[in-house]
Amino acid sequence: MLILLTNDDGIYAPGLMAMERALRQLGQVYVVAPATEQSGVGHSITFLRPLVCKEIYDGNVRRGWAVEGSPADCVKLGVFEICPQRPDLVVSGVNGGLNAGINVLYSGTVAAAIEGAFFGITSIAVSLEYDEHAQFDKAAGLAARLIAQILELKGSEAQLYNLNMPTSAMNTKPEVRVVPMDVVRFGEHFIKRKDPKGRNYYWAASDPVTPVRDRETDLTALAQGYVTLTPLQYDMTKQQMMSAMKQWDLRT
Ligand code: MN
Repeated sequence: MLILLTNDDGIYAPGLMAMERALRQLGQVYVVAPATEQSGVGHSITFLRPLVCKEIYDGNVRRGWAVEGSPADCVKLGVFEICPQRPDLVVSGVNGGLNAGINVLYSGTVAAAIEGAFFGITSIAVSLEYDEHAQFDKAAGLAARLIAQILELKGSEAQLYNLNMPTSAMNTKPEVRVVPMDVVRFGEHFIKRKDPKGRNYYWAASDPVTPVRDRETDLTALAQGYVTLTPLQYDMTKQQMMSAMKQWDLRT
C-alpha cells in the first residue's frame, strides 16, 4: 500500500514524524508536507506564484518533500508529481491540536484530507489535543491501528474521515465514538490594543466552547475523553432545498 502523508504543522513537526513511523507498519510512506507551519489556512492553494519543492534529508536518508505552499498544495503535488503511482491512502497529521466542530472548516489538516478525497482516494485527517508535551508516538500508534481497521471495514468506495484524540486518551485504553461534526460557534473575541505608533490593532483570542448537550457530537465526545471518528463529505449542496427551489420561477 502506498500512503501519501502530509500535515499543516510543517515537515519538521513531531506529529508528522511520529505518524510516518507508525504508518510504515501499513505500507510505503511518501511524505510531502509544507515547509513551514500552515495551521488554519483551510483549503487555500497556491497559483499566483511558483510552488517551490525541496527534498529534505536526515543525514543520508530522504525524509520527504518540503513544499512552500499549503497542505492542499502538498496533496496535489504528491499525487501528480511525487508519488511513483497513485496513492492508496492519504493521511494528514498528527496535528498538534484538535480539529473538531467548525474548526474542521478552518483546518489545513482536514483540507489536505479533503484534497485527497477530491482525487477519489480514501483520506483521513488525524489530530491530537494540543499539549505542550503531546505524546505524538502514542497518538500515531493508536491512529495507525484505527486506520488499519477502518480500511478493513469501510467497503470498496473511497471515503473521507476526521479522527480526533484527546490528551486523556493517551494514558488509558480509550473508547472510539463515531459522531457527527458539531456546528456550534466557538467562543472568541478580539482584544483591542494600541501599537507603539498609537494605531489600533486587534488580536483574536479564544474562549472555551460550550457545545449544546442535546446530542453527541465530536466536541461533546472529546470533552468526555473519547476518541472521535467522523465521516465527512465535501459536497456542500443542501439537498433538502433542491426540489422546492427547482420549482422557483426565477426571472432574468
Ligand atoms: Mn496544525
